Amino acid sequence: MYSITAGYRQLYATGELARRAELLQDILSCCTLCPWKCRVNRTKGEPGRCRATAELKVAKALAHFGEEPALSGTRGAGTIFFSHCHLSCCFCQNYQISQEGFGEIITPEGLAQKMLSLQEQGCHNINLVSPTHYLPHIMQALCIAAADGLIIPLVYNSNGYESVETLRLLDGVVDIYLPDAKYADDECAQKYSRAKEYAKINEVALKEMYAQVGPLVMDGEGIALKGLIIRHLVLPENLGQTEMVLNRIKACLGTQVHISLMCQYQPVFQAPHHSELQKRTSPEEYDRAIASLINLGFENGWLQDYEKIDGEFLPDFQKSDAWN
Ligand code: SF4
Repeated sequence: MYSITAGYRQLYATGELARRAELLQDILSCCTLCPWKCRVNRTKGEPGRCRATAELKVAKALAHFGEEPALSGTRGAGTIFFSHCHLSCCFCQNYQISQEGFGEIITPEGLAQKMLSLQEQGCHNINLVSPTHYLPHIMQALCIAAADGLIIPLVYNSNGYESVETLRLLDGVVDIYLPDAKYADDECAQKYSRAKEYAKINEVALKEMYAQVGPLVMDGEGIALKGLIIRHLVLPENLGQTEMVLNRIKACLGTQVHISLMCQYQPVFQAPHHSELQKRTSPEEYDRAIASLINLGFENGWLQDYEKIDGEFLPDFQKSDAWN
């Protein structure tokens, strides 16, 4: 009754997946994959703002039990962490991989094997974390993995700072979009994530994602099959302007969309350089964010248990098990 075939299976069968892989590969020689549009030739080893070249780098691939319940379920989200990122958030909890570039160079064939291995382990989906700058490689890997029997849904887990032209190449490929909506205020976005015009770019991206996949559809066990989940991390001193972010989402997508409202902010990486970011979001600040969510009429999504979040929640990607 709830069965939905992963979208990329249909595109693989018609040859469209391979065509999209070629289109994305062509972009690498004058890279415009994300809103920075650096126009560097990554095939000649030139890094752009994200610092990724044409070599695919992956930090970890594992069954992850810390994502939203609809993604982690009982057998884990089949999560692949890509090295580098096109944003530079000073509080990034994955800074070892996103900013310091930790990871190993692998081929698209190697990535396809990781996808298939995660499926064999029983994972509910393939959860691509910060995939934007490696989309050409991912699409190639997906073609190989689809040929070898990959069938589970594809999750696009992103910072929400995306180019709509690139997103259009993912139409029908991605089953579940999992973007952030980090800021309503461009000054904060610039100061803490070095992002230009984040709010406007994020809004256009969210609309495109929702137009492609619609509201979240889950199976009888509550496992996500298709749709959009928006994450918002509540920052200390309301630096992300939570109510404005939620208002913006309500205005462009309505209140049925699933929201994951998070309180797991920790002052890591370069955050201690900013006095306003040196402490956790307080329980009162998180309560106010929850009240905004409820008052605006959002009904679907997840909250975090404030008491259960502490420093041990932070991953260390240098360890074989990043969370222990
Ligand atoms: S993906 Fe990297 S190189 Fe390409 S436009 Fe974005 S920041 Fe620049």
